[in-house]
Amino acid sequence: MSTNNETIAARAEAVIPGGLLSPSRRLGAPIAFARAEGAYLYDADGNRYTDYHCAFGANVLGHRPPAVAAAIAETAENLDLIGAGVLELEVEVAELLVNAIPCAEQVAFCSSGSEATYHALRLARAHTGRKQIIKFQGGYHGWHDYVAMNGQSSRQMIGSYDPMSDGMLFDAARHTAILPYNDAGAVEDYIRKNPGEVAAIIVEPIAHNMGAVIAEKQFLADLRRITSEHGVVLIFDEVITGFRHALGGYQSIVGVTPDLATFGKAATSGYPIGILAGRREIMERVGRTGEGAVFMGGTFNGTPASMAAVKATIGELARPGVYERLFELGAYLRGEIDGIIARHGLKAQAAGFGSVWLVYFFDGAFRDYTDLLRNDNDLDMRFRRALIAGRQVFQPLQLKRLYLSLSHDRAVLDDTLELIDTTMAGLARS
Ligand code: PMP
Repeated sequence: MSTNNETIAARAEAVIPGGLLSPSRRLGAPIAFARAEGAYLYDADGNRYTDYHCAFGANVLGHRPPAVAAAIAETAENLDLIGAGVLELEVEVAELLVNAIPCAEQVAFCSSGSEATYHALRLARAHTGRKQIIKFQGGYHGWHDYVAMNGQSSRQMIGSYDPMSDGMLFDAARHTAILPYNDAGAVEDYIRKNPGEVAAIIVEPIAHNMGAVIAEKQFLADLRRITSEHGVVLIFDEVITGFRHALGGYQSIVGVTPDLATFGKAATSGYPIGILAGRREIMERVGRTGEGAVFMGGTFNGTPASMAAVKATIGELARPGVYERLFELGAYLRGEIDGIIARHGLKAQAAGFGSVWLVYFFDGAFRDYTDLLRNDNDLDMRFRRALIAGRQVFQPLQLKRLYLSLSHDRAVLDDTLELIDTTMAGLARS
């Protein structure tokens, strides 16, 4: 007899391509989730899982935070989408963001991180009158044709056009240069060799799409200096780092202020959002009509449920001690994992920043994507599959980051650490 999970998965296969809303949601077994609470997920057969996926990072407070649910319910009593005029709620949220984020003199809203990066790049091109953009190998900035390339490339594809999808338009991509992360010299060279052509650099200030490759402070400071010297717009893509590592984004931690920044994910605790923030001189084009105007359409931009969720999420994240706790939990988990790795004599290391973590299966330092090619993908995948079989939820793909939330207390982590210990013991014996 089929389980509920199997029955639902079979129905999904019939009516949804691949049976999932994206291949990135595949877990390796048919699991139909039915309920989420704090650090836990429950499937249609009543099994409990510990969630380290946290909705691709959108969930930083834990699932279904009561303050967010209450704010949405209260808003829904008076408002749904109007799409005309202005709402005081939109202004309140914009004011909170302008106060929290160093680069934000003005903000605009859309519905996803991909939209935010698309608009940031269009805005940078309009502002500079130039075409070229620079992104870094291993970075991810969304699904659109300007940037959906050169993520986890094979060694042979590094530096060449390596699209993430069939059907992409090369004409849209050929103005995107791919350079190595943490290498300001390569950026300066490129801009010098292409004078007056580069509109923008888009960079994850911590490259969480390679796991957790942290930008050297000097690299970000150099990008700031080079872009200012050459009239290039510096964009920090803080879709993962924003709200998760600090209310003001990683820019508030590292002390380098970009011209524009994009946010999404953790800003709402799980409701659709994209935020574009930046210098007034650039942002004001979004509000213009006619000459020099940048069109930032979107029926659902700033839908009230999402606005209420941002406001409530910021309220929760602004409580004293929240980030200390997230960082303390992350440090505890990484410290314990490193202890386990040492005990079993594996060539691996816990990596991460704050509440983002993963295990790299290589030893030694790393600062760009090519260093990660040392990862033992086979061990990485065996580790991941064993943990997922033990009812831990995260992506079964090498180098992918995992998350934790404020609901992951030490007891939750200790249960997972026990499983990590037996899994690592097995890997060490093999
Ligand atoms: N930028 C970064 C750094 C991301 O990690 C992501 C999503 N993983 C995006 C942009 C795109 O965001 P969304 O999935 O909301 O379109």
